[in-house]
Amino acid sequence: PKLVYDFAEGNKEMLELLGGKGANLAEMTNLGLPVPPGFTITAEACRAYLATGSVPPELADEIDHHVDALQQRMGKKLGQADDPLLVSVRSGAAVSMPGMMETVLNVGLNDDSVNGLAHQSGNPRFAWDAYRRLVQMFGKTVLDMDGDIFEDAIEAAKAAKGTRNDLDLDADDLKALVDTFKKAVHDATGREFPQDPRTQMDLAIEAVFRSWNADRAVLYRRQERIPTDLGTAVNICSMVFGNLGMDSGTGVAFTRDPATGQSGVYGDYLQNAQGEDVVAGIRNTVPLADLEQLDKTSYDDLMAIMAKLEGHYRDLCDIEFTVERGKLWMLQTRVGKRTAAAAFRIATSLVDEGVIDTDEALKRVKGAQLAQLMFPRFDADADKERITKAIGASPGAATGKVVFTSAGAVEAAEKGEKVILVRRETNPDDLHGMIAAQGILTSRGGKTSHAAVVARGMGKTCVCGAEELDVNVAQGLIKVNGTVIEAGQTISIDGTTGEVFKGEVPVVPSPVVQYFEGSLAPDAGDELVASVHRLITHADEVRRLGVRTNADTADDAARARRFGAAGIGLCRTEHMFLGERRESVERLILADNDAEREAALAELEPLQRDDFLELLAAMDGLPVTIRLIDPPLHEFLPSMEELAVKVALARERGQEPGHDAALLTAVERLHEENPMLGLRGVRLGLVIPGLFAMQVRAIASAAVELKRQGKDPRPEIMIPLVGAVQELHLARDEVEAVLAEVGVEWSIPIGTMIELPRAAVIADQIAEAADFFSFGTNDLTQTTWGFSRDDVEGAFFSRYLEKGIFAVSPFESIDREGVGALVRTGAERGRATKPDLKLGICGEHGGDPDSIQFFHEVGLDYVSCSPFRIPVARLEAGRSAL
Ligand code: ADP
Ligand code: MG
Ligand code: MG
Repeated sequence: PKLVYDFAEGNKEMLELLGGKGANLAEMTNLGLPVPPGFTITAEACRAYLATGSVPPELADEIDHHVDALQQRMGKKLGQADDPLLVSVRSGAAVSMPGMMETVLNVGLNDDSVNGLAHQSGNPRFAWDAYRRLVQMFGKTVLDMDGDIFEDAIEAAKAAKGTRNDLDLDADDLKALVDTFKKAVHDATGREFPQDPRTQMDLAIEAVFRSWNADRAVLYRRQERIPTDLGTAVNICSMVFGNLGMDSGTGVAFTRDPATGQSGVYGDYLQNAQGEDVVAGIRNTVPLADLEQLDKTSYDDLMAIMAKLEGHYRDLCDIEFTVERGKLWMLQTRVGKRTAAAAFRIATSLVDEGVIDTDEALKRVKGAQLAQLMFPRFDADADKERITKAIGASPGAATGKVVFTSAGAVEAAEKGEKVILVRRETNPDDLHGMIAAQGILTSRGGKTSHAAVVARGMGKTCVCGAEELDVNVAQGLIKVNGTVIEAGQTISIDGTTGEVFKGEVPVVPSPVVQYFEGSLAPDAGDELVASVHRLITHADEVRRLGVRTNADTADDAARARRFGAAGIGLCRTEHMFLGERRESVERLILADNDAEREAALAELEPLQRDDFLELLAAMDGLPVTIRLIDPPLHEFLPSMEELAVKVALARERGQEPGHDAALLTAVERLHEENPMLGLRGVRLGLVIPGLFAMQVRAIASAAVELKRQGKDPRPEIMIPLVGAVQELHLARDEVEAVLAEVGVEWSIPIGTMIELPRAAVIADQIAEAADFFSFGTNDLTQTTWGFSRDDVEGAFFSRYLEKGIFAVSPFESIDREGVGALVRTGAERGRATKPDLKLGICGEHGGDPDSIQFFHEVGLDYVSCSPFRIPVARLEAGRSAL
């Protein structure tokens, strides 16, 4: 296959082959925008390199060929002594991983061509600065040297000069630095810094390939659920220079505000700077709008190009550009990352602007983003001590103890503490700490700084550019306007307003939640709420999947109803046996004759009936699927160890343990090695006479009572953990007998949960005795994988995630291949017997966006999830239908 493409040969659809950066450089080239010429080595070449450990043999020739063409076009040769062609070697995968991989700038400089560049540009300082950057980046990236070696040398040079500003280092200082750097390279590697430009380039290409598997890139992919085997493309791009003087510079821009979605000009610009300087937050940038004063022509060109790009991509774009002596160059663009709020606002704005239709708008927002918008906010009316206000870079309300290092953040998080990572600026090595922290606060850098970009990508709260903060990592304290904050003290940061507060600030429900609760009207003036309203309404119009809730109390049911639930998909009845009712349950379990057992059941029945009265009333007119008791009995009894100790102590004191001794005997009798696989679910109902009947009587009599009051109760009775159709027949007979006895004159559906692999496989038989199925995917995941969630999640899941056995925990997102296949089988076989069999899912997967897509695909009728996830499920159900 062809391994190298000129920028003019590609386009934006070739993402997988050319990576995002390469595909979009090609697209811009073909749009006629000013992109420095260059070419892209495909991700396929990278995959081959990673598989074999060496570059594919035919690659060198193809690169030669493209280098020749580039030299011809530019009228100079790579590293030519009197006027060198310089290039950057840039990583760029199909999925954007900001700052995770490597780029080497100024490739082609050496001891000779640096003089040519100095002469040619008339600016020796610039030439030596470019050279020291090359040696530095090459050392770090290609030779794996510690970056501090170089940083420390720069700091030392500045200190010797009595300055803190890079720009005060002159040509001689930089020349001396290059010598120091080259010596450091020799000390660290035993080899000279390579002088041959083509060698520099080849080594840099391999280093970019390797950077795909750098620790931080691996970690980022795991965090963002990006596949591990994509590989990265490599872009060779002729250099343009933003560091030629004050008439040059480099910047980052967005076609809309990536934090709020508002239209307008957003970005950061830095005069006399190259590439990384902007994102690294090394010097403080100026707002992009200031470029208009500094260089009107470039500014106007940039505005025109930004408008063109937005029109072309029909979405928010982010852009890297450089101005070289008054001439604008485009170095990168892509459809930009944005906050959840911006995603919603941009989507509906684009509809209003006639750029996209509402279907497309709905596709562009995600359930996970809606979930983020439902997080609480700081209470505006609370007393709070504001210590500074900076840039709100990634929204959210985060509170935690101050930590200054990523290692500190990780350590604290492992102890279950909430922390805010406070740094001057972050770099890609801080990823661990950023993941562990509740929020990130930096004193430098703008909305495009590393901290801001990565935090937005992760949906993590971030305030950046808090210049009033004097962050002293070494001493572990922050000074701000006379206040001192030490490590371990609590602060709160508001990623929307950019405010930082001392102490913990109380929170209130977000406007989006208020909207779903019905206490904030969609047209009350909150634009985000208006966007959410429009898109969720559209989702409701297009979706086929119903959305129910998992709820066992009237309060939860009422909330879920306000949030748009079309009924209850799972009411667990076991909590109804806890608390004060435990004693009756104990008596039930201890009963050794029918009379005692019936007496205990008779105590429980009216209590259960009241529970159902409330629940069915709260969901009046909507279906309520009530699962008969499921968990093993020991869950209702005291712990065996504690009881044994109590009994032994009593005997020691010469007392008669009486009741405790009887209880202990019962507990011992009921003890199970694997309660998850023991006497529970339908087995319990069949073994303890009268238990299911009592529950059904409570349900039926509550329903009859509500009917009498003119209400419309719609209970559905669900039998858990069925593995054989005989179990369901027996349970069903008992349920039907009770319904008849209570005098229910309409038909109450009786169904079952499919949560054992056997049940899924024989679903055709089970369907004969069931009016509906509900897939219990929590248990089905446990029983399919053969592990018990409580025991394994903490024990080894993190190792499994690291080893790539799971991309994500199968309890979080449905395992499509295994558990999912059983769901599909169960649905197909069940419907083969009963074409109109109602199918639902009530595991936690019912609220997971990816899983919802899957349940739509396999043709289920509804998903059921916790009340708070209902809006997310409605939105995702709508997106699935498009
Ligand atoms: P990243 O993916 O981390 O942004 P890039 O490959 O985009 O890495 O490059 C890092 C920085 O160097 C960016 O600011 C980019 O604009 C700049 N840069 C890359 N190539 C060139 C070039 N040919 N000329 C000038 N600046 C460049
Ligand atoms: Mg870039
Ligand atoms: Mg279950």
